Amino acid sequence: MSKSDDDSLRPATKLVQGGRRPEWTGDPRLGGSIVNPPVWRASTILYDSIADLKARGHATHDKLYYGRRGTPTVWALADALTGMEPGAEATLLYPSGVAAISGGLLALLSPGDHLLMVDSAYEPTRAFCTGMLARMGVRTTFYDPLAGADIAGLIEPATKLIFLESPGSLTFEVQDIPAIAAVARARGVLTMLDNTWATPLFFPALAHGVDVTMMSLTKYAGGHSDAMMGSLTATRAVWPKLRSAAYQLGQTVSPDDCALILRGLRTLDVRLARHGENGLAVAGWLAKRPEVGRVLHPALPGDAGHAIWARDFAGTSGLFGFTLKGVDEAARTRFIDSLTHFGIGFSWGGYESLVVPGDPQTIRTATRWTDPDPLVRLSIGLEDPADLIADLERGFAAL
Ligand SMILES: *Cc1c(COP(=O)(O)O)cnc(C)c1O
Repeated sequence: MSKSDDDSLRPATKLVQGGRRPEWTGDPRLGGSIVNPPVWRASTILYDSIADLKARGHATHDKLYYGRRGTPTVWALADALTGMEPGAEATLLYPSGVAAISGGLLALLSPGDHLLMVDSAYEPTRAFCTGMLARMGVRTTFYDPLAGADIAGLIEPATKLIFLESPGSLTFEVQDIPAIAAVARARGVLTMLDNTWATPLFFPALAHGVDVTMMSLTKYAGGHSDAMMGSLTATRAVWPKLRSAAYQLGQTVSPDDCALILRGLRTLDVRLARHGENGLAVAGWLAKRPEVGRVLHPALPGDAGHAIWARDFAGTSGLFGFTLKGVDEAARTRFIDSLTHFGIGFSWGGYESLVVPGDPQTIRTATRWTDPDPLVRLSIGLEDPADLIADLERGFAAL
C-alpha cells in the first residue's frame, strides 16, 4: 500500500504526500530520492527483450508500456487524486474537464439508453447531451436541480445514469446528492457528479454514494490559470469501463501539465480555505448593498441551498454569483467594464479574481430562470478582500 492510499490520514496530509511513491521519486542506484516525481516525457518505452515486450502487453496502469498510457508523472497525479476520495479505486486523467465529462458519458452510455442531466449543468455538458449523445441515440431528460429523492419519478427502465453538478456553477443551486445517489443505487442507476466547485476537500463524493466524481483540474486543483486537465475518480465497479473507453478514445495528458497540476494540488487546502474566506467576505458585503438583488452563495445563511450545503459540505470555495437589482444589461456591462482587480474571463479557481456575466434564462429547459435582474459571477482570488470590495464599490458607482 502506498502512502497516498492510507485512509487514516487527513486530507491536508494526503495532499502533501499523494503520488510521492518511492519508485517514482527515487532510484536506489542514485542513493536518494527527490521530493517531487520528475517530469517523465515519453512516447516510446524501451523493452529489455521480446519476452519483456510480450509480458507487458497486459500492463496495468502503473507499468511503463507506451507513452499514451502514461508515465510516473501522470500516475502520481492520478494516485494523489484517488487518495483524496475514500472509496475510490482509481482516477483517469483527460486533457480538459469537458473531455472528462464526455469521456465518462461515452464510457457509460450506449444507444437506446436514457440519461438524467441536471438542468443547472455547465453549458458544454448540456451541449454534449443534445449534440453527440443525441446523435448516438442516447436520450437526455433535464431535471430540476432541486429534485431530491423524487427524482425516482423520472427514472425509466432505460435510465442508466444520473448526472449531478452541485452547486450549479452558474446559478449555485445545491442538490441533495445523498438522496439522489441513494435512489439511483436502489434502482441500479449510476451517478456521476461534477465536483469542480467543492473538490474532494469539501465534498468527498464517493463517500456520499456517488459512483463517478469529475473535476475540472483547470480550476482549483491547478489553481494558477496555466494548465487544463480533467479527472474522473470512480469506484471499483465502474472504473474498468472508464479506462476501456479512455484507451479506445486515445485520451492522454502531458506529463508537463501533470507536474503543474500536482504543484497546485499541494497547496489546495490552504488556497481553497482562503478563496472561501475571501469569497464570503465579498459576498457578505454584497448582500448588504442596495444595488444587489440576490447573492447566490450557498454558504450564506439566507441562501436557498444553505441547509443542504451546511449538512453535506465541509467548506466553501470562492465562486458565486449575484444579481444587479432592477438594471438592464447595459448597466451590467458598465459595472463589469469598470472593475480593475477582476479579469473578465472564463474559467475560475486561479489565484486571481475573475468576473463574467451569466444568462441562465437562455440555457434552461426543465426549469425556468425567472429572475429579471442581470447576473454576475465572481471567482474570488487570493487578493486582499478589502481591495476587491473597494473595486466593486467603484463598479457600483459606474452603474
Ligand atoms: C470549467 C468547467 C468544466 C470544464 O472544464 P475545462 O477544464 O475548462 O474543460 C466543467 N465543469 C465545470 C463546473 C466547470 O466550471
